[in-house]
Amino acid sequence: MRCLSFLLALLLTLPATAQDRHADEHSYAQPDQVRIRDLGLDLAVDFDKHQLAGTATLQLEWANEAARELVLDTRDLAISKVEARSGKRKWREVEFALAQRDERFGSKLTITLPRQYEQVRIAYATSPQASGLQWLAPSMTSGGKTPFMFSQSQAIHARSWVPLQDTPSVRFTYTARIRTPADVMALMSADNDPAAPRDGDYTFAMPQAIPSYLMAIAAGDLVFKPISGRAGVWAEPQVVDKAVKEFEDTEKMIAVTESLYGPYRWGRYDLLILPPSFPFGGMENPRLSFITPTVIAGDQSLVSLIAHELAHSWSGNLVTNASWKDMWLNEGFTSYVENRIVEALYGKERADMEFVISRNGLKAEMAQIPAEQQVLMLPARVGSDPEDALGAIAYDKGAWFLQFLELRFGREAFDPFLRAWFDGHAFQSATSEEFLAFLKAELMAKNPAAVTEAEVMAWMTAPGIPDFAPATESPRFAAVDAARADWLEDRKAARDLKTSAWTTQEWVYFLEGMPETLAPERLVELDQAFRFTGTGNGEIAQRWYPLSERSQYFEARPAMSLFLRKIGRRKLIMPTYEALAATADGLAFASQIYLMAKPGYHPITSASVEALLAKAKAAPAQ
Ligand SMILES: [Zn+2]
Repeated sequence: MRCLSFLLALLLTLPATAQDRHADEHSYAQPDQVRIRDLGLDLAVDFDKHQLAGTATLQLEWANEAARELVLDTRDLAISKVEARSGKRKWREVEFALAQRDERFGSKLTITLPRQYEQVRIAYATSPQASGLQWLAPSMTSGGKTPFMFSQSQAIHARSWVPLQDTPSVRFTYTARIRTPADVMALMSADNDPAAPRDGDYTFAMPQAIPSYLMAIAAGDLVFKPISGRAGVWAEPQVVDKAVKEFEDTEKMIAVTESLYGPYRWGRYDLLILPPSFPFGGMENPRLSFITPTVIAGDQSLVSLIAHELAHSWSGNLVTNASWKDMWLNEGFTSYVENRIVEALYGKERADMEFVISRNGLKAEMAQIPAEQQVLMLPARVGSDPEDALGAIAYDKGAWFLQFLELRFGREAFDPFLRAWFDGHAFQSATSEEFLAFLKAELMAKNPAAVTEAEVMAWMTAPGIPDFAPATESPRFAAVDAARADWLEDRKAARDLKTSAWTTQEWVYFLEGMPETLAPERLVELDQAFRFTGTGNGEIAQRWYPLSERSQYFEARPAMSLFLRKIGRRKLIMPTYEALAATADGLAFASQIYLMAKPGYHPITSASVEALLAKAKAAPAQ
């Protein structure tokens, strides 16, 4: 996933415990007793009720002869019946108990079986408030005529639409039959057929075993256009051509990644372009990455997001963090591979600019989070929200550590090492401890002078960034620094700066280097020269609107309000909400905007905005 959650400081409140790092404290499941091996879904999509209803059939593999209980994760599911059987025998109804709902983890479902049946079938329906589903009225889509729904299961939201073992340490294959209104197309993280007739009755198979957070479904007015023989775009008809053009390099990205890390093992690789309310940049649902439309910039400047989601086909989907404490094994590796893909396709200058921007974000985030959370190898934290681990530490410190290893060992040793890690752990879950052991045996032992164990452990278990971390220089950003200084020190007017060749990365860096506030008339000058207010580029808007608000440049507010109401991608809008929440007047304005925006926001985005506004109201600023 690409999101860089921004509100970590609000959430990181729970103390570390000494619990075993190998357990998954975010799931009720007991995979040491019994594991799901296959899931069969038969669900109807009801857009009026905002509900999925039907059955989930689980194939079980028992690990302990004495076990008679199957414990599953659920959240807000209405369970009407549970049956069990072995082989093709008759289904027999069995007892189940749904525990009281925990705010964070949902309700533990305990199914008591008289013996070790091979299959369990659960009849259930989801709640309209399911945390992993969003239901959009036709008015919230590009076409305006057909409703839209989609899932977001990572980290622990799959349990809100399927009863299962919701832990990345369990993998299973799945099949599904999905029924929708006849004019709606349904897709899953499975073998979507570009030629499937649109008739409201769809079947899917996912033959590779995946963890629960990669379960995904979407339904709406979706059409397909190919990019290559194995890659293409699903999107609303109004968006599909623009998306195919923007992401035309997808096949090249697959080929580059294969040349570095071995074959793409999932069959097709398609992109699903979601409506603007999608709370993240992208989600690496296997065979079908879910993508925010906010990266369709018109100039391919934000396609590193596609590189990121594609990279997860190796780091994350193929080799998966065994629990969310080891999130950096997914996101740090993926951010590193993303940068390698960008370098191979678009050159080192662009890759370096992207590293610099993400590391500036990392430094800003580190200033807000406690030291014990600044480590890659997080301690077990019972009761914590697993999304706490979804911050810049896992992504950018993780990628920085891998770049450090690459530079010390050299690509000729490091690239084959990484490929061997993916090959050797394919379709398995892994822990930080396993990676460390592999690193020591396969890289450090063979090149003993390159890196010390103390250096490795400084990355893994010490807060902050080691002082021996490699620095990334960007000559193109040095030119931006010079231009900004010329303007700030009145040597040049904004319109005289040489910006015609700047890409999104340079504009982002230009704005991020501005002082905390500027005189409003200085922002007028920037706006007249560069038309930032009302920009269609979300990355620029993400930096411009907070600067305007801090600088009390209120002329930007109407466009800011439109931006906050149209876009639901958390990373893009949260900085503006935060800037607004810093003053009493801004907080009132933000609360008004949120009321209007909320019906179009995903529950994940709403929760973040509400937490921010509530915190600001509890401790008024001025
Ligand atoms: Zn990711």
